[in-house]
Amino acid sequence: MKRQSGWAIVASLSLFLTGCAATVGGAAQPVDPTRVAGLEITDGPSGLKPGVRDAALPVDGGDGGEIDNLAANAVADVQRYWREHLPAVFNRDFRPLATLASYDSAGRGRVICGASTAGLVNAFYCAGEDVVAWDRGELLPTLGDSIGSAAVMAVLAHEIGHAVQFRLGLPAATPSIVKEQQADCYTGAYFRWVAEGKSAMFQVSTGRGLNEVLTALFRIRDSAGVAFDDDGAHGSAFDRVSAFQFGFTDGPARCAMIDEREIEGRSTQGGSGSAAANVRLDDREALADLTTSLRQAFRLAATPPTLTAGAACGVTTEDSLASYCPESNQIALDLDGLVRIGTPPRRGRQGGIGDFAAFAEVASRYTLAVQQEGGFRLDGPVAAQRTACLTGYWASTIADGKRGSLTLSPGDLDEAIAEMLTRNSLIAADVQGRTLPAGFARVAAFRDGLSSGDQGTCGTKYR
Ligand SMILES: [Zn+2]
Repeated sequence: MKRQSGWAIVASLSLFLTGCAATVGGAAQPVDPTRVAGLEITDGPSGLKPGVRDAALPVDGGDGGEIDNLAANAVADVQRYWREHLPAVFNRDFRPLATLASYDSAGRGRVICGASTAGLVNAFYCAGEDVVAWDRGELLPTLGDSIGSAAVMAVLAHEIGHAVQFRLGLPAATPSIVKEQQADCYTGAYFRWVAEGKSAMFQVSTGRGLNEVLTALFRIRDSAGVAFDDDGAHGSAFDRVSAFQFGFTDGPARCAMIDEREIEGRSTQGGSGSAAANVRLDDREALADLTTSLRQAFRLAATPPTLTAGAACGVTTEDSLASYCPESNQIALDLDGLVRIGTPPRRGRQGGIGDFAAFAEVASRYTLAVQQEGGFRLDGPVAAQRTACLTGYWASTIADGKRGSLTLSPGDLDEAIAEMLTRNSLIAADVQGRTLPAGFARVAAFRDGLSSGDQGTCGTKYR
C-alpha cells in the first residue's frame, strides 16, 4: 500500500464530492455459492486415483522414482485430454511430445535443448526438440510436499500448454506474457476435465484440490514490480490465477483468444517499480486513511461504522482478526494480529502476508455495514461471496491513478490472493467469520468487484 501527502487527500475529497455513483446496465446472473464454476464443491483427495496403473512413458534421464512417475503419469493424462480436445475445439490432431526429460538441478547438469540443467530449479518446454523437462531434485518434490500432487500436475499441464501453442502455430515472437497466460489458461481447461471426473488416472477436488493449484500459481508468480510486458514476464499471482480460472470456466477456446490487448485490459501487473514500504495498521494515520478510503468507496446514508481496537463482539470465529458488530456499528480490530498478517514474510523466516491483506480484511468487515444498509443478509455463503466482491470493488477505488490518500502498490493484489487461500480468509467470510469453502469461488467473487469497478454488480450477482 502507498500513503500520500495531505494535499492529495484534499484533491481526492473534492473529486469525490463531484463524482457520481456508477451504475451499469444489464442484470448479472446470480452465482450459486455452493458450486465452483458450476461444479459441486468437493474436498476429497487430489492426485493419482488409487490402484491406477502407471502410464510408463519413457523418461529421458529419469531415476524411476516416485516424482518421475507422478510427472510422467501427469503428462500422459494431459496428453489424453488434448488428444480429445485439440481435434474437438481446434480441429487439429494432437501429436504427443517427442521427449520427456527429467534432471536433478543439484546434479552436475546436462544439456537439454541447449540449456544446462545445473542449478535450474524449473520445468520447461522447448519447441526446438519438442521436449518437456522437469527438475525432479527440487522443484517438483518441493511443490508436491509443501502443497500437494495437484501442484505437480499443474506444472506439467502448464508446460504441455506451451506444446499445444506450438502445435496451434502461435508465432515464436509472441510476447512471453501471452504465452504464459495462455498456458495457465490451458491448465485450467485440463483441470476442469479432471474435476468433472473424466480423467481415468487423476482426480481433483474443487475445494482443497483447486486451492492447491491456485497456491502453486501464487508460489511461482512474478515478484512485485515486474511489468506484464517485461521480457520473460509470467504474470502476477492475480493474473495467473485469473487465466487459470478462465480456462477452467470457459474452456480452451477462451485461452486461444488471450492476446496482448486482452491482457492489457485486465492485467493488474501494471507499472514497474518495487513494492512500496509496508504500511502498518497500528499507525494512526494509516487507519485514518483506510477509513477515508472506505467512506469514499461506499456512500452510506446512515452513520458509517467506526474502527476500534478491541475485542470481537461475540459473533465471530475465534481466529478472526476483525469483526463487524451490527448493534454498536463498530468494527473491532485485533491490531496485533492484523499487524502480524500485515507483515510480509522474510526470506526463510515465518511471517504474515503483507499490508494489503490486513487492510482488505478490515475493509471486508466494513462492507458488512454496507450490506446491512442495503438490506442483505449478513450470514451464509452468499454474504461471504458478496463480501469478497465488495472488498474487490473497494480495491478498485484505490487503484493506481485514482488519487486518494491510500493507493495500491505492486504486489498488493497478490497479497489478497494469498489471504484468500488461507483457511480462515476474512476477505471472503460472512459476518460470523465463516469463510466460503472454495478458494476458487473466493477469488472469482473478489475479481468480479475489482474488474467491474461497480458496487452494484456485487448485489445483483451475489444475492
Ligand atoms: Zn510457461
